[in-house]
Amino acid sequence: TWVLWNDRLVKDGDIQLSKEDRGYQFGDGIYEVIRVYNGSMFTATEHIDRFYESADKIKIVIPYTKDVFHKMVYDLIEANEVTSGQVYIQITRGATPRQHQFPTNTVEAVLTAYTKELQRPVSEMTNGVSVKTVEDIRWLRCDIKSLNLLGSVLAKQEAYEDGCFEALLHRGDSITEGSSTNMYGIKDGVLYTHPATNLILNGITRRVILACCEEIGLPVVEEPMSLASVFLNEEFFMSSTTSEIIPVIMINGRKLGKGLPGDWTQKLQTAFEAKINQAIYA
Ligand code: PMP
Repeated sequence: TWVLWNDRLVKDGDIQLSKEDRGYQFGDGIYEVIRVYNGSMFTATEHIDRFYESADKIKIVIPYTKDVFHKMVYDLIEANEVTSGQVYIQITRGATPRQHQFPTNTVEAVLTAYTKELQRPVSEMTNGVSVKTVEDIRWLRCDIKSLNLLGSVLAKQEAYEDGCFEALLHRGDSITEGSSTNMYGIKDGVLYTHPATNLILNGITRRVILACCEEIGLPVVEEPMSLASVFLNEEFFMSSTTSEIIPVIMINGRKLGKGLPGDWTQKLQTAFEAKINQAIYA
């Protein structure tokens, strides 16, 4: 398979990365994951915009226009003949002798991207999953899609060791999001989710879902939900680029409602799928 290494497509084995790459040493970089359905990228513009925004927030300059970059990612997907899959993209502040402060601007950022075949998580989407609540110990710029993922890794591992699919993060009494997903509750015909502040990543899937809510007539309230009130929700679900919409049926080993995917959640899944199909056949 081919990988993107700066502005070149090279064979996977030919990529050369430095031991002093700042991504490797400091997590000094940002990344993005774009879903590919039927050979074409879903919400590519939104993901590429967010990639540039994340880079900008940590003062990494991507040395290509968005259009050129879009084409580079497109060519990678085509070269690898991806049908159902994803593309992972990251950029770091480059390689220099290890020191915390930024290198001089003669040091070039290092861009890498690769693709992977991936099926939709049909079983989880249909049956729902369990989550475990874990204290959110991440930093205060969760709006940046940073390579520093230790807080997420530790939370996910804790959930995983308890047999759960995802961690439901909370800062004190306030629910934020999942380790790599956004979280939503539905109560009395209203959808609640954390506002897009510095405490969460504003998911691209989240944005599509909020548009779907409008379409199906489900009112949205963007405000933090208290951990104490989590079981008052009739429905609960999570979202991400690779998870799409996955119902949460159990929290900390306790069933939510009847312990089945809810009606609104299923309506949202249908509306979301229609958007995927629109994009594929557009
Ligand atoms: N929150 C976090 C912390 C994430 O890492 C992700 C996935 N990258 C999401 C939310 C979901 O974002 P998206 O829908 O853009 O994949």
